[in-house]
Amino acid sequence: MHVVAIDGPAGSGKSSVSKSAAARLYFGYLDTGAAYRALTWAALKANLDAEKLTESWLQEYFDYSISLDPNDYWVKVAGLDLTEKIRETYIAESVSAYARQPLVRKFMLETTKSLVNQCNLAGIIVEGRDITTVVLPDAQTRILLTASPEVRLERRSKELTSGADALNQVTQRDKSDSQIVDFMHPAPGVTLIDSTHMDFDETVAKVIATITSDRR
Ligand code: C5P
Repeated sequence: MHVVAIDGPAGSGKSSVSKSAAARLYFGYLDTGAAYRALTWAALKANLDAEKLTESWLQEYFDYSISLDPNDYWVKVAGLDLTEKIRETYIAESVSAYARQPLVRKFMLETTKSLVNQCNLAGIIVEGRDITTVVLPDAQTRILLTASPEVRLERRSKELTSGADALNQVTQRDKSDSQIVDFMHPAPGVTLIDSTHMDFDETVAKVIATITSDRR
């Protein structure tokens, strides 16, 4: 199976680009940020602060599932569909605090690897922040997708209701997340794709061309 790892900051377009490229290649698609968001939802609901999380709680109570089909995307916890819920602002505001816990990162690493193993297609695109460096450093194709801060903010604000929200959310979250993993600079062997001056279709085409050239 052709494993593709794609990292990048918030607003780089990596989720929509990865999903579209996966659909066109008939590959699976795995959004790793969704697990951190779903965990944040479950922990907040259980009134569990990030520091209070335990391995046994994660193993026993965090019953997570996600679709690997780029044409039918959903996220569930204990059978409850949270696809829309985990995109809400209160989740985005709290997610970094949970994501910085070493216990959580270890759990997510194992979860991601086991989801990749469940995919029985010709390939899979796995996107996140630490996929090219920590989770799947041996992936056949590794890409870092970036864009200038201005363009990322513009793209994100189109997805959110208020512009002020977008500005605060994206800068704060990237600042906090980048203390844990470097997703702004490509690690050795990682292809940098800067989409600042590309539109959506051009970016998807560039990602597909990069993957295809690794297949030969
Ligand atoms: O990609 P998305 O914005 O949905 O990610 C939500 C959050 O999950 C990030 O802000 C980050 O805190 C965390 N995350 C991570 N490592 C990943 C993917 C996401 O720490 N591979």
